[in-house]
Amino acid sequence: MSSRILLIEDEPGLAMTLGDLLAAEGHVVETAYDGVIGLELAMASPFDLILLDVMLPRKNGYEVCRELRQAGSETAILMLTAKGQTVDKIVGLKLGADDYLVKPFDPSELLARVEALLRRVRKQNLSPVLRFRFGDVNADFQIPEVRRKGEALSLTGKEMALLRHFVEHRGRVLSREEILSHVWEYQPHVTTRTVDVHIAWLRQKLEENPQFPKYIVTVRGTGYRFSA
Ligand code: CA
Repeated sequence: MSSRILLIEDEPGLAMTLGDLLAAEGHVVETAYDGVIGLELAMASPFDLILLDVMLPRKNGYEVCRELRQAGSETAILMLTAKGQTVDKIVGLKLGADDYLVKPFDPSELLARVEALLRRVRKQNLSPVLRFRFGDVNADFQIPEVRRKGEALSLTGKEMALLRHFVEHRGRVLSREEILSHVWEYQPHVTTRTVDVHIAWLRQKLEENPQFPKYIVTVRGTGYRFSA
C-alpha cells in the first residue's frame, strides 16, 4: 500500500538514496533540504510519515518536531540521528518523535522501521468513521445519509461507499486500483474508468465547483486525494 512520506534531510546524497529506496517500495516521497521548508511542507498537507534528520540548516529536527506537535500534528515521525549522539534519542522521543534511527544505518533497517510505523498508522486509521463534516457537507455513514447545506443528497450505495473510503483515508493519495479493490472488490467488468466516473458524479453532488474540486482532488499520474 502506497503512503505519502516527507523526507527532511539536508545531505543531498542521502536524501536521494532514501527517496529512491522509498519510491521503489511504492511510496510517494517529497523531500525538503532544510528545517524551515520541511516544516512548511509538513503543515501544508498531510503525510503518513515524516523522516526527520536532526542536524538541519535553518531549523533543526528537534525544533521541527516540537513545532509540529505543538500545532497538533499527529503524523508519525522517524528521527535520523548522527552516530554517538545518544542523548538525541531521548530528546527526540521526548519531543514527540515515534522512533529514531542512528546514522549510518542499513537500508533494510530503515525500511523495516518505516513499515512498522506505517502499519501502526494504518491500524489507527482503520477505526471506522461514523460521521464526518467537511465544508457545508454533513455525512452520516450509519443512517446512511449525506446532507449539503442541510439538504439531503441522493447518493447511490457505491457513491456512499466511495465517500466513506475517502473520508477514512483522508489526506492520503489513493490510486485508482486501490480504490477499485476496496470499494468494488474487483467485480468483473469493472475497470479504473468506473472509479473516475463515480468520482465525477460524487464531485457533482458534493463540490461547490465540480470543475475545480476542493475536496476530491486529482493527483496527477497517481490517483485521488480527499482533503477536508
Ligand atoms: Ca543533517
